[in-house]
Amino acid sequence: MKRYLFTPGPVPTSRGVSLAEAGELIAHRGADFSELFLRIEKKLSLLLRSSGRTVIFPSSGTGALESLAANFTGPGVRVLSVSCGIFGDRFREIADLHGASITGVDVPPGEGVTPQIVAEAIVANSGTDVLLLTHNETSTGVLNPIEEIVSALPKWKKPLVLVDGVSSVGAMPCYPEEWGVDGLATASQKGLLTPPGLGLVWLSERAWERAAGKKCGSYYFDLVRQKKDLYKDAPENPYTPPVSLYYALDAALDTVTADGWFATRRRAADTFVAGAEALGFKPLVADKKFRSAGVSALSLPNGDISDVTKSLRAMGLEPAGGQGALRGKIMRIAHYHDVSWPEISLMLGALYAALGSARRGSGNFIEAAFDVWEGLAK
Ligand SMILES: *Cc1c(COP(=O)(O)O)cnc(C)c1O
Repeated sequence: MKRYLFTPGPVPTSRGVSLAEAGELIAHRGADFSELFLRIEKKLSLLLRSSGRTVIFPSSGTGALESLAANFTGPGVRVLSVSCGIFGDRFREIADLHGASITGVDVPPGEGVTPQIVAEAIVANSGTDVLLLTHNETSTGVLNPIEEIVSALPKWKKPLVLVDGVSSVGAMPCYPEEWGVDGLATASQKGLLTPPGLGLVWLSERAWERAAGKKCGSYYFDLVRQKKDLYKDAPENPYTPPVSLYYALDAALDTVTADGWFATRRRAADTFVAGAEALGFKPLVADKKFRSAGVSALSLPNGDISDVTKSLRAMGLEPAGGQGALRGKIMRIAHYHDVSWPEISLMLGALYAALGSARRGSGNFIEAAFDVWEGLAK
C-alpha cells in the first residue's frame, strides 16, 4: 500500500526535487560546484533575508546544533538555555557536553516561551554569555516568537543568541539578521523540503568575529575553518559535500522562496486543526498565537491517542507520535510540504475513520468502506 508521510521530518519531496537529486554528479572541486553553491547561497539569502553566507554540513540538524555549541560554548562560557520541549533539552545537553556552565529555564510542554520569561531570566543571570532558544519546538508544535524575545532582551549586555531553527526555516518566516539572532541552525529534511542529510548554520557578523577569536573544540564542525574555503570568490567545501543533496536543496529552495509559501503553510495548519477540533481532538498548544505552521500536535480529551495513531498507520498515513513524557498522549501531523485541501480532507477523513475504528463498530461511512478494503466486510 502507498504510504503518505505526515511526519515532521522527513517530509515528502516533490517530483522536481527528486529529479534534481538524480542529476549527474559533478566534481566538488571546480567551477561547477562553486556555481551550484553560490546559487544555493543566493536563494538562502533571500529566504533568511540576509546578506551573509550559510555553512552547509553533511549532517542532520543535530550536527548543526553541535556546530553552534562547539564554536560558541565551552568551559567558562555561561549559557542560559530556555527550553519548552525535547529539542530545547537536546540543545542544552549538547552545550553541557561541551563543558559550558548551564542555567536552564523550562516551560511546560504545549506552552510557548514569552519575551517576559526570557528577559527575566537574563536579568536574574546577568553574566550570561550565550542564550539558547528553539524557534519551532517540534515535539509539541510550539512556535516561539523569536523576534519579540530578542527585542525584549536588555540592550546593555546582549548575550550571543543561538537559535534552533531546524523545523522552522523554509515553512515560516525566520529572519535572523533582522531579528538580532547571532547563530541559527537548520536542516534539510523539514521546512526545506529536501531529503535528510544537510545541516545548515547561519551566523551574524558579531558571531563570526567571536568565532574567529575562539578555539573550536571540533575539527569537522569548526565554522572558521569552513569560512576560509566557503567565503572565497569560487567557494568550495573543505570536505566532500553530498552533491546530490545540494541539487535537491537548490530545487526545493525555489518552492519555499515563492511568494505566498509561508501563508499557505499557515492556512493548511489552521484548516487542519479546525477540522480536528470539530472531530473532538484537542490541540496540545492551547494558545493559538504559539501554534506552529509546520506541525500540529493533537491529543484526545479522554487520554490515550495511540489507537488512533495505529489506525492511521494501518490506513497508509504516517503521523508522528509523542516523544518522551508525551508518548501515547499526542499525535503530530506535519504540513511542511505542499499539503492543501486534498491532503487535509484525506487526513481529516482518516481521523474520522480512525476514531470510529478505535471504537470498533461505530459504523461510520469511512469505516464501512475501509472494512471492504481490508476484506472485513460481511
Ligand atoms: C528535527 C529537529 C532536530 C534534530 O534534527 P536531526 O536532523 O534529527 O538531527 C533538532 N531540533 C528541532 C527543533 C528539530 O525539529
